Amino acid sequence: MNAPTHAAALAPSVKLLIGGQLLESESTEWREVVNPATQQVLARVPFATAREIDAAVAAAKEAFKTWKKTPIGTRARIFLKYQQLIREHMAELAALLTAEQGKTLADAEGDVFRGLEVVEHAAGIGNLQLGELANNVATGVDTYTLLQPLGVCAGITPFNFPAMIPLWMFPMAIATGNTFVLKPSEQDPMVTMRLAELALAAGIPPGVLNVIHGGEMAVNALCDHQDIKAVSFVGSTKVGTHVYQRATLAGKRVQCMMGAKNHAVVLPDASQEQTLDALVGAAFGAAGQRCMALSVVLLVGATQKWIPELVAKARALRLSAGTERGADLGPLISCAARARVEGLIERGIAEGATLELDGRRPLVPGFESGNFVGPTIFSDVKPGMAIYQQEIFGPVLALVPAPDLDAAIAFINDNPNGNGTAIFTQSGAAARKFQEEIDVGQVGINVPIPVPVPLFSFTGSRASKLGDLGPYGRQVIMFYTQTKTVTARWFDASGSARGVNTTISL
Ligand code: NAD
Repeated sequence: MNAPTHAAALAPSVKLLIGGQLLESESTEWREVVNPATQQVLARVPFATAREIDAAVAAAKEAFKTWKKTPIGTRARIFLKYQQLIREHMAELAALLTAEQGKTLADAEGDVFRGLEVVEHAAGIGNLQLGELANNVATGVDTYTLLQPLGVCAGITPFNFPAMIPLWMFPMAIATGNTFVLKPSEQDPMVTMRLAELALAAGIPPGVLNVIHGGEMAVNALCDHQDIKAVSFVGSTKVGTHVYQRATLAGKRVQCMMGAKNHAVVLPDASQEQTLDALVGAAFGAAGQRCMALSVVLLVGATQKWIPELVAKARALRLSAGTERGADLGPLISCAARARVEGLIERGIAEGATLELDGRRPLVPGFESGNFVGPTIFSDVKPGMAIYQQEIFGPVLALVPAPDLDAAIAFINDNPNGNGTAIFTQSGAAARKFQEEIDVGQVGINVPIPVPVPLFSFTGSRASKLGDLGPYGRQVIMFYTQTKTVTARWFDASGSARGVNTTISL
């Protein structure tokens, strides 16, 4: 937590949302929300007290009593209205997001838009939360399932998609009949709060959506709380593993989407220009602060010769504040993040990788105090180097030579992470072999960032995911509901009794 400054004392406070009320926190612990391009203090965010967290859960528990019985059509119409409000406020939401997170305005709109798609999907809840029925499983007996909401669910979200990831969670949880307590990232909570306000304006009743702020203490309180039935987490592997262990120990259903080290494979038959454009965009867009950013490229065979052109394309990117026209990438989220990324670049050099492009301490006219690191490329990267072992979460791309596709697949499967990957090739056979043999959740074929649309679910394997079911799509309907299986017989008044039967049969 940073020390309060004069600017922070004057900055507006981020409110808590409890029981439909936007409340000033009673907390004595606050943190500044800082524009990463300028260091301007935009707001101060409270670390909610234990009492406030309890009040949010209690409000959600109370609201569940009526919300769970709300007709499907009523729930659907709220999300129809909500998607309209998000569209109407797109420019405002993107500006807020850019101010506190740093990504470019166009990318901020993409962040909101990918969340909006989940809201649109939630509006179709009538077709999504359907049970199954089997008629006459025995004579005169039917079996059917009910998909019932769980109760109070909680969501814990990271800083890098402050619109999309909260929208992955609460719309689907609420559309399925649950109530929700959200804890956004304390680094950029403002756009999330604006989305919560719009949700209220769309008609989400008091207590159905609650928002508290904070860090470790708040997260642990949500994991432990006996009235919370399920926890959705998106963030780093370290924190996600802790959340999974702590919340499952408390008997909750938990889904954790976690860290990454996403590899692309480039085969010699790939379309060179389009592939290089895709690699540069996916490695350096959002300053590499995407869980699906490409951070390692395996150059197979002769594609090694493409390095100078790749470097030239990366060098041509424009680094500036996200608000500036023509900016391709903005600053990192914090001074600490910049120092960490610069430290990893230094380790890469010390450990013997070849620095092809150095983005440290770039000149960004007008934004000299911003947390900028420019596109950085290393070649000759090997497992064991810190720049390969760690998720850098910055604009740093590692290039690795590979003799053939088999070697590339084995290399990727040896990495502990399994979030996203992509292959670039014109060969259907090679692409099919890749999709079959790679142990990674999201696979792109000539698509560098294959985040699924909400007709599908986001997934992940190995160290990138804990829990069976992913966010949004069909899987999240199962995550946010309890299946109840009913087997029913109705006695016909004219029928005769069959006598006592002590065997297992219907
Ligand atoms: P983070 O793990 O630091 O924070 C995530 C959440 O956990 C925040 O709300 C934060 O307040 C809370 N938190 C932080 N430290 C905690 C602690 N010690 N105990 C309990 N709670 C704590 O992640 P971040 O830096 O905000 O986000 C970046 C990470 O998120 C990257 O690793 C990225 O790959 C990952 N991510 C994954 C996905 C995915 O879908 N797999 C998507 C986006 C981001």
